[in-house]
Amino acid sequence: MTIVEVLTEFAESGGIGELKPGASLADVSRRLGPPQDGEYFPGRRRKSGEPRNVRYGDVRLEVCCDILRAVALSTGTGSVDLPSGVPGKTEELPSAVTAAQLREAFSTAGIRAEEGSWPEPADQVTLVVRHSPADVHFTFRRTDSDESEGSGAVLHSAIARDTHHVCR
Ligand SMILES: [Zn+2]
Repeated sequence: MTIVEVLTEFAESGGIGELKPGASLADVSRRLGPPQDGEYFPGRRRKSGEPRNVRYGDVRLEVCCDILRAVALSTGTGSVDLPSGVPGKTEELPSAVTAAQLREAFSTAGIRAEEGSWPEPADQVTLVVRHSPADVHFTFRRTDSDESEGSGAVLHSAIARDTHHVCR
């Protein structure tokens, strides 16, 4: 798979493979093995209701009540490690992708993406694909060589976060 295919599937299905907001971590772990620790501050105690951060390679998850609340992938580093489908194994992919490439792939796949409608820093472009329970947001950063319409903007991250989760 190429990064464009992974991201097009993210836009189409609302997740990266099994990793979708609303999925149970128990189900995901049965297929992909246990996740790796993804806490930003290891050892810090979480407040109650605060999600756990875990990851499969570079796919970062927020988990609350054993349910995936957010699925996020940062692509700005040049390559990403994604779950390969074999428990405990990841696969490395080059991750550079422009807004123009992704817009074209979405249009070929018949995916409707909206331009982000809230105020963004001037150097960012956001594409939003509607999904339930979580919309998928693709955030691009403009590069200096940018000509027009964000065609030179490079993907920084893709994230789907369920903001309506209510703890059981
Ligand atoms: Zn919860």
